Amino acid sequence: MSKIYNFSAGPAVLDSTVLEATSKAAIDYQGHGISLMEMSHRSKPVMDMVAETENLVRVLLQVPDQYYVLFLQGGASLQFAMIPMNLLGENQTADYTDTGAWSAKAIKEAQLYGNVNVACSSKESVHNHIPKELNQSEAAVYLHVTSNNTIYGTQWYSYPKPINADGYLVADMSSDIFSRPIDVSQFGLIYAGAQKNMGPAGVTLVIIRGDILGKVDRTIPTMMNYQTQMDKSSMFNTPPVMSIYAVNRTLSWLKENGGVEAMAEKNERKAKKLYDEIERNPLFISPVALEDRSLMNVPFVFADGGDEADFLSFCDHRGLKTLKGHRSVGGFRASIYNAMPEAGVDALIHAMQEYQTN
Ligand SMILES: *Cc1c(COP(=O)(O)O)cnc(C)c1O
Repeated sequence: MSKIYNFSAGPAVLDSTVLEATSKAAIDYQGHGISLMEMSHRSKPVMDMVAETENLVRVLLQVPDQYYVLFLQGGASLQFAMIPMNLLGENQTADYTDTGAWSAKAIKEAQLYGNVNVACSSKESVHNHIPKELNQSEAAVYLHVTSNNTIYGTQWYSYPKPINADGYLVADMSSDIFSRPIDVSQFGLIYAGAQKNMGPAGVTLVIIRGDILGKVDRTIPTMMNYQTQMDKSSMFNTPPVMSIYAVNRTLSWLKENGGVEAMAEKNERKAKKLYDEIERNPLFISPVALEDRSLMNVPFVFADGGDEADFLSFCDHRGLKTLKGHRSVGGFRASIYNAMPEAGVDALIHAMQEYQTN
């Protein structure tokens, strides 16, 4: 059996060093004789590990000091609600960009707490591009963007600026965090579920500027109040220590391999060769506007129809797994996150070429 490459959109591929370290820790954490799963989150080794993970986030993304780094639960999906609950007053407005299914879910939750102005939408064209014109509201508290649209394969390459001088950007970076450098100071809040580009499911990263809090007067449940999580350094309740450890190992691997700058270079190279093959190969086309194509999720479809199940099984026999496209786009989707080796992309390109000449 040849090597397996997992092109899943999420939970997604992790580097083998992460899997090895995590499986070791599951049995005996750093020679303490017990599993990391059995250890108190208040014990020194665990507290040190979580602090080190926070530090890795800070170093890799150059997070300014006035930002808090939190490890929460409930996935990016809980953030869809926590963000407006904490930041958007009942009579206030937030601007949202509607660039895909995850944006739509974020909009739906925000509508429960305040006014939502949908500043732009690509829905009419099945989210095949990032809208360039925004219709922002003067007094919007924040402007929400989904930095990478996991399902449709589009990505923001430069972020819009809030027109309200006191406004700030809020970004769902679940599927491209740590894939490229970002200027954290552009944002009031960044959030990301771990299971795309950062680790396994179970932990959600939130990077938040402290001064955006305390401006709504509703009652917020203790667990869902960012202030609680900040005051207790993400340890108000029992944190998902195993998941955080896998994030720790992933970020450490990332740092050893040159950090987000080196990742960005590698990701550009990987995506370019795959898009080049989609352009070259008469069997396939990309449904996404050229200038907005994601470096993380690459959807492609048959140009003139074809047997999708046959191509998927052709790939599967070559160890190229989970390439089926999302049901709303159809066709195929190759998710090529940080941990997808360049050799995996090469193997996919090779399969596409072989399938063409077959
Ligand atoms: C997967 C995904 C989500 C949902 O994440 P959960 O952690 O499962 O809640 C949200 N936003 C984006 C962009 C995603 O890719």
